[in-house]
Amino acid sequence: MTDRYGVLGWPVGHSRSPAMMRAAGLERYQRLPVAPPVFADTVRALGPAGFRGANVTIPHKEAALAVATSASDAAREIGAANTLTFGAGGAIHADNTDAPGLLEALGRAPASALVLGAGGSARAAVWALLRAGADVSVWNRTPQRAEGLGARVVTTRVAAEVLVNCTSVGLDHSSTPFQAFAFEADALVEYATVVDLVYRAGGTALIREADRRGVATVDGLEILVRQGALSFTLWTGLAAPRQTMRAAVRERSPQTR
Ligand code: NAP
Repeated sequence: MTDRYGVLGWPVGHSRSPAMMRAAGLERYQRLPVAPPVFADTVRALGPAGFRGANVTIPHKEAALAVATSASDAAREIGAANTLTFGAGGAIHADNTDAPGLLEALGRAPASALVLGAGGSARAAVWALLRAGADVSVWNRTPQRAEGLGARVVTTRVAAEVLVNCTSVGLDHSSTPFQAFAFEADALVEYATVVDLVYRAGGTALIREADRRGVATVDGLEILVRQGALSFTLWTGLAAPRQTMRAAVRERSPQTR
């Protein structure tokens, strides 16, 4: 098992919980690394063990959809789930909050978008943007992988209202989309908003360069908070304390903005 394998759950609570979780009847958010071979069995055991739900991350999002007994349109059409909700009799409902989380963070549906990447998070982003009525182009290092997403596949940078980085480029401080996709940081002014799904301590070069040029930005931590807040609501039926969640993730993963 390694820390890469993440299933995060909400065991049903008692008095040690913070107030907002107690109010929702939850105890704590438990980090639970799980290796792929035991993923399905582990997930099936979580509901009976008292977990309300789980967030699922790389590399389990497809397996999370496969183990579910029901799924939302978003999870089914994207082909991946990041949120599982446990019900009676072993029921497991799969959902995908990455997609609506991005739209919520943007605040409005853009007319057009250029998505960098064609992996799991790009699939969710493209699905959400297309459903919102945007004209979507996808630029991926491996163009064939972008086929079938329902968006225009491009092999060079195109201008759009929103630029969304859904690659893992930027995770380490030496890699930037500017090198990987060979475009100048000055081109960022052609986008009204730049979104980077990647988050790391110290912030990403993409967000820093966009900020420096006065372009509106949405960073990966904000996307993380938005999709987590939507998961919280799916599990509890309550509005999530976004401000508390935002403060918590920013404290644990400091960014220079
Ligand atoms: P993934 O399925 O592994 O896809 C990775 C993507 O990055 C692929 O399109 C890949 O291109 C591209 N890529 C990797 N290295 C590259 C390079 N050197 N040059 C150009 N392209 C490169 O990963 P994912 O699930 O989509 O996640 C992508 C990133 O988003 C990760 O950093 C993840 O942590 C982050 N994320 C954040 C949130 C959030 O809440 N903020 C949510 C989901 C994901 P190829 O197809 O050519 O290999």
